[in-house]
Amino acid sequence: MSERNPPIDGPTGSISGSEGDDELRFRDPEKADALADRLAEIGDELDDPPATVMHVCGSHEQSIAKFGLRSLLPDTVNLVMGPGCPVCVTNMPEVDEAVALAEKGVTIATYGDMLKVSGTAKSLDDVRSEGADVRVVYGTQDAVELAEDLDGEVVFFATGFETTAAPTAAVIRDDPPENFSVLSAHKYIPPAMEIVAEMPDTEIDGYLAAGNAAIITGHGIFDGLVDRHGLPVVVGGFEPLDILAGLVKLVEHVRDGDQTVENAYPRCVTRDGNRVAKEQLWDVFEAVGGEWRGIAHIPNANLQLRDEYAEYDASKRFDVDASYLREQSGSRLLHDCICGDIMAGAADPTDCRLFGEACTPADPVGACMVSSEGTCKIWHEYGGRPDL
Ligand code: SF4
Repeated sequence: MSERNPPIDGPTGSISGSEGDDELRFRDPEKADALADRLAEIGDELDDPPATVMHVCGSHEQSIAKFGLRSLLPDTVNLVMGPGCPVCVTNMPEVDEAVALAEKGVTIATYGDMLKVSGTAKSLDDVRSEGADVRVVYGTQDAVELAEDLDGEVVFFATGFETTAAPTAAVIRDDPPENFSVLSAHKYIPPAMEIVAEMPDTEIDGYLAAGNAAIITGHGIFDGLVDRHGLPVVVGGFEPLDILAGLVKLVEHVRDGDQTVENAYPRCVTRDGNRVAKEQLWDVFEAVGGEWRGIAHIPNANLQLRDEYAEYDASKRFDVDASYLREQSGSRLLHDCICGDIMAGAADPTDCRLFGEACTPADPVGACMVSSEGTCKIWHEYGGRPDL
């Protein structure tokens, strides 16, 4: 069996990733029921139930909610979401810098999800309605093409984890136009998992790591986390059966007290990841400490352009001073937002007094209600806790 398409051996047999294979059935209810039964069996064997396991990806939460996977989990398994929504962890001063640049007359290009995320006083949507030039793009290359079409300065307000930072790096190395630069709010997820693992209120027993980020980094990146924190990590894919099979593996490791990394997404993830993408990523970016919104200051978890690429670094090119925004007043309701606690696995969206009342997708207060990867927005879409 090739490394590209090996089977995921679940308790009900293999789930093959081979194209055109009859076994390519990621939404088979019988297999889902069998995996749920297996989870219940393992849950009954836990020494200290419930096991609290954390997934670290908005796409995992979307799939869990959409397919009602929490309804299949036994009471002995508590599944919480971690800091896996890049929009949600973008800090207010980072949004302030983009807002200040837009107010200065620079064209800002960014992902649609970023528009309604508030800075200290304003969002990019606010300044756009006041006349600033803020454009929605679907990726870094779109922003480059926009710069090629315009005469003025175009700044790509770049958010996202290593999955989107790698394409940003590739574009910067590809000699973009002189009027193009990047305001990086890119984040790097492994250090955030370590910080969350240390939080006393979180008390997680294991991680279901995001398969998409691990495609870049490789699953070997989690070896250090396992050694330092004694938690099992299972890398999981995004189809319902991927997630259930990953949870079976993870809860087995929790039961057995294993300190190990297991790859439950082998059709996409290898131990070393994408070497070309990693080389580009670390050539352009360096990891520095920074604040993740509502969570903590996290060492080595913000991606900053290296000095060699300073000409493309918008924060250096424009010497942005957004301090005037901190003197303006933003929404007072933001003080009641518990988005940080939710992303640290210490609270659920329904614990927030604003959920579905003062904070809705149409009129969001916190970033978790803005992004399609934010837990509050996902839960709101399903009418509360999405357990059917
Ligand atoms: Fe923040 Fe809104 Fe979620 Fe409450 S419901 S935690 S205010 S995003």
